[in-house]
Amino acid sequence: MEDNKMSPTKELAEKLLLDNAKTARAACVASVPKAMDFAEGYKDFINAAKTEREAVSWSVEAAQAQGFVEFDPAKKYNPGDKVYYNNRGKAICLAVIGKKGAAEGVRIAAAHIDSPRIDLKPIPLYESNELCLLKTHYYGGVKKYQWPAMPLALHGKIVRKDGSEVTVNIGENPGDPQFCITDILPHLGKDQAVKKLGEAFSGEDLNVLVGSLPLEAEGEQLYKLNIMKVLNEQYGIVESDLISAELEFVPAFPAADIGFDRSMVGAYGHDDRVCAYPALQALFDCEAPEKTSLVVLADKEEIGSVGNTGLCSEYLNYFVADLAEAEGLNPRWVWSKSSCLSADVTAALDPTYISAFEPGNSTYLNRGVGIAKYTGSRGKGGSNDASAEFLGWVRKILDDAGVLWQIGELGKVDQGGGGTVAYDVARMNADVIDIGVPVLSMHSPFEVISKVDLFAAYQAFKAYFQAK
Ligand code: MN
Ligand code: MN
Repeated sequence: MEDNKMSPTKELAEKLLLDNAKTARAACVASVPKAMDFAEGYKDFINAAKTEREAVSWSVEAAQAQGFVEFDPAKKYNPGDKVYYNNRGKAICLAVIGKKGAAEGVRIAAAHIDSPRIDLKPIPLYESNELCLLKTHYYGGVKKYQWPAMPLALHGKIVRKDGSEVTVNIGENPGDPQFCITDILPHLGKDQAVKKLGEAFSGEDLNVLVGSLPLEAEGEQLYKLNIMKVLNEQYGIVESDLISAELEFVPAFPAADIGFDRSMVGAYGHDDRVCAYPALQALFDCEAPEKTSLVVLADKEEIGSVGNTGLCSEYLNYFVADLAEAEGLNPRWVWSKSSCLSADVTAALDPTYISAFEPGNSTYLNRGVGIAKYTGSRGKGGSNDASAEFLGWVRKILDDAGVLWQIGELGKVDQGGGGTVAYDVARMNADVIDIGVPVLSMHSPFEVISKVDLFAAYQAFKAYFQAK
């Protein structure tokens, strides 16, 4: 005889115990078709936006197509109006004015659009033993051994002495040349092989190969001269123009579906464009929310949110203050009533490196968008620890909207740690919590995310903007 009735113990367990894996599995499978669709747009974005400048250009274009106009602090705005502030082409704030305006605070989703990469030194070009190379200074937390022996593309901007500008994007289109950092062959790698992983590749070893032909002439530095001749012919620059440039080497390959089931996306720079994209899309889908809703896409998070385009700068504060003052409100009071989802990636549990994780408090691929109540390292150092009240509200709005979400920490206690922009925004006396897409191989040239989690992030930002 079959008994469909649950045993009393099982019933009690269903009622009282948290079963993350089981709850997530059913919801995950249900969201797959929509998640697959959503990821197509994301792949286009991440291929087009490998640097902060490119992410801002893409966002401005996409926002304008959605009816956003450049913010003018002198103007009065009405519910449903859409505005943006482009900070030097490297960071951007976008807002949809709410029915209640900023009177009861604003809702912010903050992501960053810079990623670890290899930047050029100010005087980069040199020749050595009949090859031409560029000296670099890596940007952000890279594992240096991951960057040699793979195709690189060069992105960025050069400002000539006369002020004219050259936008650089070499290595992405079919037929483009690409670049690479060389590595020693294993046959001769005896000295390298006995070094510790963190010491086997030094920052000064990350030299990028850019040429091997000499100029047909008699004289000195003919290899270097030949490359400068090519650059002068193609881009109208001389060597000193490289001083006033921001040139960044990034992996040259595009995003790809990962897995036989195509459930994941592998790409360079998921951290943190995988949060920037769903936040933007959620704002675009936000018709006249109750409260004014904002997305800020920040630069420089990977090096501490410093500089005038990082969130240590006051531009987000000024933007909110301008919105407040346009309504005759005191910006400080608006900030005190505001909240922010600090939208940054978290580390997904990796079964190959399980010893770095505490499985009961880790985020997993396909369990949805990952909340981190706190980040930091060594006793939550450097973290914004969200309040129980705010987290309680966030989990309610996510559950009410049927969003797949999970909560976890970045690895084991004292294993390491990391920070986000959360504390930069919390400084304004707003409620802030970290939430983002779990990533495998974070900060590597080829990071992996799940399409279900990406879509859950979009749903989470949308639920947040639209919540009463
Ligand atoms: Mn990040
Ligand atoms: Mn990062």
